[in-house]
This record gives sequence, C-alpha cells and structure tokens, in this order.
Amino acid sequence: MKSKVKVAINGFGTIGKRIAIAVNKQDDMIVSGIVKKKPDYNALYAIRAGIDIYTISDKDMETFRKKGIEVRGTINDLIKESDIVVDATPDGVGETYKELYKTNGINSIFQGGEEASIADISFNSLCNYDEAYGKKSIRVVSCNTTGLLRSICTLNQVSKIEKINAVLIRRGADPQEIKKGPINSIVLNPVNLPSHHALDVKSVIPWINISTAAVVVPTTLMHVHHVTIRFKDKIIKNDIIDALMQAPRIILLDTKLSDIQSTAQIIDAARLVKERGDVNELVVFKDSISIDENEVQFFQAVHQESIVVPENIDAIRASLEISSKYDSISQTDKKLGINKILY
Ligand code: NAD
Repeated sequence: MKSKVKVAINGFGTIGKRIAIAVNKQDDMIVSGIVKKKPDYNALYAIRAGIDIYTISDKDMETFRKKGIEVRGTINDLIKESDIVVDATPDGVGETYKELYKTNGINSIFQGGEEASIADISFNSLCNYDEAYGKKSIRVVSCNTTGLLRSICTLNQVSKIEKINAVLIRRGADPQEIKKGPINSIVLNPVNLPSHHALDVKSVIPWINISTAAVVVPTTLMHVHHVTIRFKDKIIKNDIIDALMQAPRIILLDTKLSDIQSTAQIIDAARLVKERGDVNELVVFKDSISIDENEVQFFQAVHQESIVVPENIDAIRASLEISSKYDSISQTDKKLGINKILY
C-alpha cells in the first residue's frame, strides 16, 4: 500500500483546524502535526484528536508545557518530517513563513488572506486544477472568491460569459471572534469600486470581465452574493439549472420545498445534517434564478468557515501530483460527505 502524504498545518484557527480534520479523513494523506501559537481550547482539541502539536519557537514550548499540553517540537522540526505544509495563519502572516518553506524545499499551500504573489498560482478546483498540477506553492483563494469562482466556472460551460456584476454582503466576523464587528452598521468595505474581489477572481481566471462591490453587515453566519452574469448569447433557464445541479460542490436550494430563505435557516438546517453545521458547498437559491435574454441573476450563500476546505485538500493533491482533477474532487467530496443536498 502507498504510504500517506504527511501534511503539516501551520495555524490552527477557523480554517486550519477544519483542514486538519479534513486531511485526516482522506485515504492518501495524514496530518503530521500542527503549529499552535496559543495553548487554547483548539490546542486541547488537537490533543483529544491525537494530533501532534508544535510551537513557533523553543520559548513557546514552555508556555504550553506549563498548561500541561505536550509539545513535540517547533515548526522547524515539523517541516523536516512533512511532505507539504498548509499555511492557515492570519492574513499576511503566511508571507513571513514563505522563506522558511522555501529554504526547507517543502511544497506549500497558502490561503486567500495572502497576496496572490505569494504562490506560483492562485487556485480553485473547478477552474484551474490542471494548471496547478505540480506547482511548488499554491494559494487557495478566499471564501468569497471561491464561491464566485464555483458558479462562474460552472456557468461559463453553458455559454460564453461576457460580463459579471456581483454585490457581496459579507459577514462581519466568524462566530468565535469576540472583538470584531460591526455591531450596528452596514460598512462599505471597501468604499472604492470595484472591490478587490474582482481582482481576486481574475487571479484565477484572468480572462473574465467582472466587477464587484462589497458591504459588511453585523452577522457571523455566512456571506450572501447577488450575482448578475451577461452571456454572449441568449440563455435558457433550464440549462443554467442543469449546469448548477450537475456541478460538484454546489447546492441548488429549493425555497418552495425547504422554506429556507435566509443564512440563519441554512446554518440551522446544516446543523441537523452536516458535521459541525459546516456547509462546504456553495448554496445557490434556485428560486432566485431569473433570466432576461442573455442575462441571469441569482443569490448565492457562502459559509466562510468551511467553503475553502475541499479546495485545500485538492490543492495538496495537485501540488504533489497525486491525483487528476475529477479523481481528487470525487475523493475529497466523498470523504467529507459533500453532496448536492441540504434539503
Ligand atoms: P484565525 O485567526 O481563525 O486562525 C489563525 C491561527 O493562526 C490562529 O490560531 C492564530 O493563533 C494562529 N497564528 C497567529 N500567528 C501565527 C504565527 N505567526 N504562526 C503560526 N500560527 C499563528 O484565521 P482564519 O480565519 O483561519 O484565517 C486563516 C487564513 O484563511 C487567512 O489567510 C484568511 O484570510 C483565510 N480565510 C479565512 C476565512 C474565514 O472566513 N475565516 C475564509 C477563507 C479564507
């Protein structure tokens, strides 16, 4: 039997811990260890899950040991024992580790909070898996960009896209972020148009014509996008629905059937049927799909805490040349219980 690829995870917060759990569910990879900055409840969870903890420096080891948390070594030790590192540190911190990964000759996966220039390629499984194959470093784009790319790359198969306009209503913070807001405001973020999300989409598919605007609202559950896509030719509603139904990692939510018309209900429903209430899939509101000649508009919802997790698993396989595109997507989705149905 082929041995499993050893994956180091640097940063064990919202994204890092979900990636670690997902890696350990795959047949072809295993977490070699995680790098923790603070000896908090996430560190206690790692011990409970049998995941080895490493610290940033020798000095930090003492802080962990004082709390009774066993530490195996520092990040330098972990990297030497691993085949690839997934960096899930906060925005911009990945940049400070780039040199360390490079000098150790280890392949690296970065997240969307880093500049696109950090890696050889910015990545989305549906859009450019083949281009990322064998790349030494890959950046998995942000949650909003991943959501946009899933629907864009799917619908570009129906007919050639001419122009996209998307308005992003972004969650203010993740549920555990107790010091972030806004608490009572709708913040234009950024004020200047188009927002940076359009550029981020272009970091994966440079040929697309897209404009985005974004506001941040006081909620922690999900983002919602209103997307308008103009095609070169006239389109038929059923072709749009069929494409979204058939694409991996997209749920077409039927409001008439489920009576779901909000992010709160999506998460509440997900808590009944999905692990941790995570929704790795992009949720498109089927009843919002509306056609006018060569234009379609619809609402979609993005669970920011978990949508990028399957892409990280695929990025590991692409970087290490383990599997082809659809082989990786289907393995990942099967092991993570990703399907086409919420209700
Ligand atoms: P987070 O703050 O929840 O987790 C980051 C973790 O890294 C924390 O545990 C923190 O203690 C640790 N850390 C801080 N400094 C460190 C250092 N120098 N070395 C090692 N660990 C360190 O952040 P997150 O939300 O998981 O975001 C991680 C990355 O994923 C960012 O690039 C972010 O933009 C991206 N991302 C976040 C979301 C989201 O909604 N949370 C969605 C998609 C992508």
